[in-house]
Amino acid sequence: MTRATALRDGTGYTFPPAPGRLLGPWRLPEEPLPELPEVETLRRDLDSEVVGRKVKGVDVKAASAVRRHPSRADFTDRLLGRKVAEVGRRGSTLLLRLDDGAVLTIRLGASGRLLKERSAALVEQRTDAVITFATGGDLRVLGLGDDGELFVAAPGEEEAGPRARSAAIDPLTDAFTWQALNARLLARGARLRPLLTDESFLAGIGPIYADEILWASALRWDRRSDRLTAQEVRRLYRAIQEVVQEAVRLRGTSVGDDLHVDLYGNKGEYQSQLNAYQREGQPCQRCRTPLVREQLEQASTFHCPKCQS
Ligand SMILES: [Zn+2]
Repeated sequence: MTRATALRDGTGYTFPPAPGRLLGPWRLPEEPLPELPEVETLRRDLDSEVVGRKVKGVDVKAASAVRRHPSRADFTDRLLGRKVAEVGRRGSTLLLRLDDGAVLTIRLGASGRLLKERSAALVEQRTDAVITFATGGDLRVLGLGDDGELFVAAPGEEEAGPRARSAAIDPLTDAFTWQALNARLLARGARLRPLLTDESFLAGIGPIYADEILWASALRWDRRSDRLTAQEVRRLYRAIQEVVQEAVRLRGTSVGDDLHVDLYGNKGEYQSQLNAYQREGQPCQRCRTPLVREQLEQASTFHCPKCQS
């Protein structure tokens, strides 16, 4: 039996490959992962678990995890004895403000994870750092890879790092208004799908939510952002809000090889709500037309060829 035959069922629809099999080629290297709902889920978990806790010990297992510091000791010294005052987020970057005004920046990259563990629990092999609190166990950082890192910025020091994009609007903030979106769409004049995942345009939208937003707004991936009608802009605006907020409510989407889990190791639930992403060949939930996958440079986009126009 050929692979193509094996992928077909009786209806003639081609099933998508097993989740995550081709995740690499389905996105551009610079598309944000994890995306905003997954990071916001972690931010909320951290907010309830580590605020007010005092750092008792820091064990950096991989020097590469703290590569912007001159040494592991420099990183450790900035954390020891400090309390976490507040947990914030800038796009996909987590920001833990400490009681002396320093900020612990956590960029997870495509494969990084955060776990809250009892200090006695076995330390997994791909653990990059363990932060132990005086009470309340450990915060463990795993699998940061090349695009993730930890950094403690001293008070007043620039904490954002090389990937800071001050121009991006975060769809979960009050700055994200219909007027702001409209002005940016007009100014850019770019195709919608690459624009949505551009981190200088919107914060934290990657391949999953970009495809879902375009499906929800019934707009084609290659529509030019400066040629949308006012009604289409409103549809897009509502879709961004609804998709992102619902994904946060369901604690993110867990698909792929390095699937998202929350601070306690539990998966999100938004994957059950996906209408477009990785649904090539499956019937559109609106019009029953089989969805298609379009290749754009190194990324792919999944959409309905009939009702997205
Ligand atoms: Zn459709």
